[in-house]
Amino acid sequence: MTFSDLKLIEPLTNALAKKGYQTPTPIQQKAIPHILDGKDLFGCAQTGTGKTAAFALPILQLLYERRSISGNQIRALILAPTRELAIQIGENFSAYGANLNLRHTVVFGGVSQVPQAQAMRKGVDILIATPGRLLDLMSQGIIRINQIELFVLDEADRMLDMGFIHDIKKILSKLPAQKQTLLFSATLPDEIKSLADGLLQQPVRVSVTPVSSAAEAVKQSVYYVNRENKRPLLHHVIVENHIDHALVFTRTKRGADRIAKDLNKRGIKAESIHGDKSQGARERALKGFKERSIRILVATDIASRGIDVDKLSHVINYEIPELAETYVHRIGRTGRAGESGTAISFCTSEEQPYMRDIIKLINKNIETIKSHPFNN
Ligand code: AMP
Repeated sequence: MTFSDLKLIEPLTNALAKKGYQTPTPIQQKAIPHILDGKDLFGCAQTGTGKTAAFALPILQLLYERRSISGNQIRALILAPTRELAIQIGENFSAYGANLNLRHTVVFGGVSQVPQAQAMRKGVDILIATPGRLLDLMSQGIIRINQIELFVLDEADRMLDMGFIHDIKKILSKLPAQKQTLLFSATLPDEIKSLADGLLQQPVRVSVTPVSSAAEAVKQSVYYVNRENKRPLLHHVIVENHIDHALVFTRTKRGADRIAKDLNKRGIKAESIHGDKSQGARERALKGFKERSIRILVATDIASRGIDVDKLSHVINYEIPELAETYVHRIGRTGRAGESGTAISFCTSEEQPYMRDIIKLINKNIETIKSHPFNN
């Protein structure tokens, strides 16, 4: 199956070829034809499955083929729970829409609204937004969403987790009745089902592999080590395995800073990213990591949400998470979209019970690496 088999137009398939994508992922294969057909869609898929392209590609195509009927109005609205995710969705639209003359912009809170308002004034076909800032700009009359043709609610479960339900309801009340709606969620709690019932009209349902099988594609190993030897072990593992791009997970913000500092001292370019850092510092670190001027990015779980790096080869669990699901989410950052990835974990004797939970959840043995200088 190719992207042209999905009836995607040449400007899009050319952009995809430039990105190096050859085969559509399962969610893309299942969702794109229905979205192009104008159907509402309920997609159960998590980050890493290629879901962003699954909605971005057909939206670009539909808007391009229909031309503008609404003059200078926004034609597609994508709501995302976090600024990191909103920015990434924007980057996807830039890449896939490179050969089309459609304008998109991203608005999110925590930064000045001035450039966002300026971009809106120039005219935008596709708006990607977080709920709070969108409502803010709507209340000032800077954004109007009454001509939307396509509406996407991305990571709906996380939106609800983050307490955005009232904001979302306010936004929904301002959307026109006649529109195509796409809802994506990684999990399906009852609140999501009732939200979908109210929002979608005769939706097509598509779903792809649940969390536990996301771990299948990833090569996993564990090093048993004392707490005080984790830092030298990290350096050893990076050098020994010639790792030139890795995301290292740690439990605490201070821990993240200390690990990054230690790596830099040992001559390995590293940055930390966590909630105490300014938005600007986080974006710079992420950009440096994506561009590979930063070799190792050390992150807490919260800060890492929504981090999406093409071809991330290694994830290192500096500490074992207490929740087995967190482990699966972490290692899901590598080995994406059919590529192989490697996950390495450092485990002390106190952390062994967590490791056992993980092995139970993924239902697969994890190789123990015994030949290392800090094995006791
Ligand atoms: P997402 O689930 O949207 O966060 O996408 C996960 C990752 O897979 C992103 O880095 C995409 O750029 C990448 N990706 C999306 N579709 C494809 C594809 N068909 N082939 C290869 N990589 C893809």
